[in-house]
Order: sequence, then C-alpha cells, then structure tokens
Amino acid sequence: MSTDVKQSDTLRLPPGLLPKNIADLSAYSSAKSEKLSGSTWLNANESPYTREYKLSGQALNRYPDPQPQQVIQAYADYVGLAPEQVVMTRGADEGIELLVRTFCQSAKDSIAIFAPTYGMYKVTADTHNVALNTLSQELLLQGDVDEICTQVGDAKLVFICNPNNPTGALVSQDKIAAIAARLTSSALVVVDEAYIEFCPEQSAVSLLADYANVVVLRTLSKAFALAGLRTGFTLANTQVLAPLRKVLAPYPVSTVVADITAQALSTSNIASMRRQVDILNALKSRLQQWLEQSDAVTRVLKGKGNFVTLQLKDKNAIAIAYQQGLVMRPFTLYGQDNWLRISIGNEQELGEVKAWLDSLTGSTATNQ
Ligand SMILES: *Cc1c(COP(=O)(O)O)cnc(C)c1O
Repeated sequence: MSTDVKQSDTLRLPPGLLPKNIADLSAYSSAKSEKLSGSTWLNANESPYTREYKLSGQALNRYPDPQPQQVIQAYADYVGLAPEQVVMTRGADEGIELLVRTFCQSAKDSIAIFAPTYGMYKVTADTHNVALNTLSQELLLQGDVDEICTQVGDAKLVFICNPNNPTGALVSQDKIAAIAARLTSSALVVVDEAYIEFCPEQSAVSLLADYANVVVLRTLSKAFALAGLRTGFTLANTQVLAPLRKVLAPYPVSTVVADITAQALSTSNIASMRRQVDILNALKSRLQQWLEQSDAVTRVLKGKGNFVTLQLKDKNAIAIAYQQGLVMRPFTLYGQDNWLRISIGNEQELGEVKAWLDSLTGSTATNQ
C-alpha cells in the first residue's frame, strides 16, 4: 500500500497564511535531529551514566499537579532558594521560550546574546518574531560593564550562558552582578547554567537575593543524566515568576516526569551525581591533554562543562570519526568550519576518541 501524500490544489495552504518569520525559519538542528548512524555518541553533552527509575504507580487518569510541590521543594533545597523562586519546566529550553513569550513583544522587542553560544536563544527569538542583538563572547569576557551594557541597548532579555556552550567560557559572578545592576531598569539578565554542576562554585543563584532582574536557568539534562526526561527549572524572584506562571502551559509536567524527578533529587542521587561530575571532570582533563599534544589539533578551548571544543587541522578528520562510528558535534566558529565539540563520555568512549586521534597522526602514543 502506498503512503504517498497526494498533491492537489485543495491540499495547498492559502498563500500568506504562514507568517514570514516562520516561513524564513531554519529549525534548530539539535544534535539528535540529524540522522546520523553511529555507535558512540559524544555529540549532545549527555551524561554517559544511566540509572533505573521505578514508577511509583500513581493513577494517570487525573491531571498532574501543574507544579509538583515535592519536586519544587527538593529543587529549592538543592539550590538554597525558597519554593516560590522555582518554576519547573520541560527542560531549560522551555524556560528560554517562556521568558521570551512573557517579556518580549513580537515585532517590537529584542534580546541580546553573546556569540558563539547556545543555538536555542536565536531559534526562540526568530520563532516569536523578536529581534536578536548578537554581541560577542569577546565583548562579554573582555569588555567593561559600561561597554557591554551600552551595546545591549534596549534588549529586554540578556542571555549569558555560563559556562558557555560551546566555548566553555565563564563570566565571573561579580561581572554578572555589575551587568544586572546597570540594567535594573531595562532588562532581565538570564544566566543559563545548564553546565553549572561541573563548576558549582560559579553559580549566580546567590545574586537572586540582591537583584530582581536576574534569572537562572537549570536543567537535569546534563550532569543529572536525564536528557530523556525533559526537566528544567527557572529560578527567579516572584516579580519575574508571577507573570511567567500566567504564560506557562496548564499542565507542563506530567505525573511520570514529576515522579522520576523527585527520585532524581533525593539526597543519595545528588551525592552520586556529584561523584559522577568529579569523574567526568577528571576524564575531561585527560582528553584536554591528549588534544593539546595532538598534531591533528590546532586549538583547544580551555573551559568548563562536560565537553571540550577544539579546532582541527583538517576537517576531514570528522568524516573519519563517523566511519569509525564515533559521533561528535562539528561547529562553524569564528568563520571556520573545522571546529568540533566532544562531549565527555565514559572511559571506554574516550578511549575511542584517543584511538581516532592517534589514527589521524599515525601516532601510537600510550593510552594515558
Ligand atoms: C543542553 C542545554 C540546554 C537545554 O537543556 P534542556 O533542559 O535539555 O532543554 C539549555 N542551555 C544550554 C546552554 C544547553 O547546553
């Protein structure tokens, strides 16, 4: 039986039905949306650790609690905030979208980002017909606060990815505080802390005590090893969260997700997450050393997070990795298409990266 979709005039959409900003959109190509075949996945900054969760068997005929209190309390305890300062979302990505939908007027407002950075800020702005003020990481890291805030202009939201994906760069808490202070009457400073568990002492959460315009985005997709669950949190004061709650979908968190998230935030699971972070950070140092010693690599970005971003001498090396079933994330950075981001996998997976690196230079260095 053929499943071809018939083409006919009655199946055509009326011209002009689709808004121009949507017609012009190029969908976010996430690491998983590209159809790649491979055996070793080091392209999406996922954790290599898996853990079994059992459902506690709650009835699914009822709608869930829109914001499951036990989970909200557990996350508030984990970050040292009050439950009123925590909103649970479908991943940090939904937090980004909620902020844009709540605070930006379509075709009028803008957001500021510091490129190269996480791709979803642009996708979300484009989708909602909100303008993008693209500033540079260099400005954020080296520029002084006056210069940064002048260039932010009248952007309503300023996204600071900290540590930054894909460069790993960190901005100090003091600088974030100074930016927030300068922008108190014009913008929210949104600190995306998707990777903060890999350098927890750098968190901007403590700034919430002093600034009404600071927002922190968190996720369980990276260090907590739950990318498949789709759980994130938006942390802010009630002045920010009250309007956000009005825009939030009626039942964003399913009963099943709330159940597993509650287990993931148990004291023992948080302790085990922290042990895994220590192991991944150690493996990362080892990978960084290999890369720095490799003649096939021209630059290695030193930074935080469960990934390393590097520039290859020859971008064909990526195709060679694919042939070996090794999937990493290629990037065009600073106008050059020979960059690669490698997520920190387990010891065996990183051994495959080492073997690939050695094959590029014909080296047979010892595996250390
Ligand atoms: C992975 C990632 C996210 C997305 O997190 P989800 O909770 O899986 O939606 C957000 N921000 C950054 C910088 C990320 O790298």
